[in-house]
Amino acid sequence: MNSNFLQTPIEYLKGVGPNRADLLKKELGIYTFQDLINLFPNRYLDRTQYYKIGQIQQTNAEIQIVGKITHLKSVEQKRGKRLVATFIDETGKMELVWFRGQKWIRENLKLNTPYVIFGKANRFNNVYSMPHPEMELLTDHEKSIRSAMQPVYPSTEKLGNSGITNRVINTLMQSLFTDAKNGFAETLSLPLINGLKLLPKSEALFNIHFPKNSTLLAKAQYRLKFEELFYIQLQLLRKNMLHKSKIKGYTFDRVGAYFNDFFKEHLPFELTGAQKRVIKEIRKDMGSKAQMNRLLQGDVGSGKTIVAFMSMLIALDNGFQACLMAPTEILSVQHYNGLLELCNKLKVSISILTGSSKTSSRREIHENLENGTLQLLIGTHALLEDKVKFKNLGLAIIDEQHRFGVAQRSKLWHKNELPPHVLVMTATPIPRTLAMSVYGDLDISVIDELPPGRKDIKTVHRYDANRLRVFRFIRDEIDKGRQVYIVYPLIQESEALDYKDLMDGYESIVREFPQPKYQISIVHGKMKPADKEYEMNRFVKGETQIMVATTVIEVGVNVPNASVMVIESAERFGLSQLHQLRGRVGRGAEQSFCILMTSHKLTQDAKTRLQTMTRTNDGFEISEVDLKLRGPGDIMGTQQSGVLNLRIADIIKDSEILKIARSYAFEVLNDDPGLAKDFNSPIRNAYAALVKFKNIWNYIS
Ligand code: ADP
Ligand code: MG
Repeated sequence: MNSNFLQTPIEYLKGVGPNRADLLKKELGIYTFQDLINLFPNRYLDRTQYYKIGQIQQTNAEIQIVGKITHLKSVEQKRGKRLVATFIDETGKMELVWFRGQKWIRENLKLNTPYVIFGKANRFNNVYSMPHPEMELLTDHEKSIRSAMQPVYPSTEKLGNSGITNRVINTLMQSLFTDAKNGFAETLSLPLINGLKLLPKSEALFNIHFPKNSTLLAKAQYRLKFEELFYIQLQLLRKNMLHKSKIKGYTFDRVGAYFNDFFKEHLPFELTGAQKRVIKEIRKDMGSKAQMNRLLQGDVGSGKTIVAFMSMLIALDNGFQACLMAPTEILSVQHYNGLLELCNKLKVSISILTGSSKTSSRREIHENLENGTLQLLIGTHALLEDKVKFKNLGLAIIDEQHRFGVAQRSKLWHKNELPPHVLVMTATPIPRTLAMSVYGDLDISVIDELPPGRKDIKTVHRYDANRLRVFRFIRDEIDKGRQVYIVYPLIQESEALDYKDLMDGYESIVREFPQPKYQISIVHGKMKPADKEYEMNRFVKGETQIMVATTVIEVGVNVPNASVMVIESAERFGLSQLHQLRGRVGRGAEQSFCILMTSHKLTQDAKTRLQTMTRTNDGFEISEVDLKLRGPGDIMGTQQSGVLNLRIADIIKDSEILKIARSYAFEVLNDDPGLAKDFNSPIRNAYAALVKFKNIWNYIS
């Protein structure tokens, strides 16, 4: 079957016509025959069994009955009319009920003619009734090529009301398959089909719409899911390959004095295996001729900073400058202070540039950047200002990726002839399978190991009623010299209420922890940035023992002496937020604690979140649960990507197929980068069609 047939506009299909075509386009995005074929069922109904009306029991299961309508009437009720049919078989009678689409039903239903009905029966006043049954004339039912596994297609209320029922879609599908005579072009190569024992395309399509049995259905699903994921991965991997062949970068082939001196003389601790592996990956990238474009994922506290520093030393060893950009002033200062000491030992020049840098030091920095005497620059968004011109920026590192947009990332590129290598660091763990799809075109390094000797943060869940005991615990910890965070939710929709909660909480904390013995910082979104910085700094310096805050502290501050994190209304936070907040403690040598405070009213999801937090400290495990609870739509960075537009595969449930698809896509491209070999022609054609109709580049970062 040639591809022109599949591109036929949907109105030309028997049984469609202009009105239905309009609806199909608007409601389901079906413009062509191809679109209809790719409308895959959400689920299948088992229609092997027939019931008699006399056998119905109240079970909520879907049942199928053969009988006749003897009578049809409209019944007025408070909220509009309903249409009620009396339906009988030889064992009894029941009612069929419609609330919507009554006109169409009235005009089209035949009285005293055998129908097969299908749906859920409820019992009202001793009579069974079935709302909105699926109906089909028994004669059609017997003729149809439909199987006992009946597909249920995605639909909308509007479609249902306009008479385009599941049954109708099914009939359209039948006429399409009859016209196509089952000849659909193969879209995978023979080696793939044979190697994975996949169903051929035509057979897979037939069985997804008209499954002969559950085994064939499963095979059809596998083949189509594989194909869908395979082509996404193929596109991502090709993009990555093109990037590498097209976007040249500086080749850092030298590992010189700075790196070696640091490694041999000044390394403050033994690197973990994961850190060593990641540094190797980065070195290899920067040593090639292509620009590095790498994402470094590592849980809070996994030691990304030292990796960043050693990568910057490689740039320096090759005669280039490097910069590190952080989302807030405080974080920049912390990075700067941490690295300053190491830089002094190595005689590397380093400066910090933020919004509050003085004009004089700003001028000096600009000058020294341009003449090359300044080697490392740390800072905030201020680094992106036009006045900031590097002599030769070789590596740009961005900490806490989600605070910077992609646009800002690319702005850094335009400072010299060749783009600098880019390393983006994130502490938001993303399940691997999701990362493969969202960031599939970036190279990914993962630090999946914490430095040794790190104590797990003890996490407990306490109800508001136990607040006094929690306060007593906090007092004990402060007596031992520790510091404490108390965090309140701030959620846009109810900002005023949240603000009141925060202030009420603050007052009760001030009462419980009176001055001068206790000093308290407060930070929230309504404060001026300068005031926020001031309060944060008092806490960072240890002048205050308690930090009361909304989630503004979510990203980054490092106060190793803080050992308790109390999260108020913890049920209102998402899992990844809870995990990020908890990561603020446990940074020093002391045993740290996280206390999740909630009321007694908890949803099932909230319970799961709290249990997950008390069970594990592993960010990747937590992100897997998060993904299951929320679906991929709410996970950072997925919104723009194609992950959500999957037709048949499920990014969570089909992660195994995804891994296989990715490795096969990789093999195919590795063996035949241009998809030029004869046996790859089905892939070449399908790929060309995909790129033509849907330019995936545009919506993957
Ligand atoms: P993050 O990945 O959250 O940015 P950091 O780089 O701030 O983590 O590291 C957290 C803490 O762990 C720092 O105090 C750092 O000095 C320490 N650290 C990092 N790597 C190691 C290691 N291999 N052994 C011991 N301590 C380490
Ligand atoms: Mg960090």
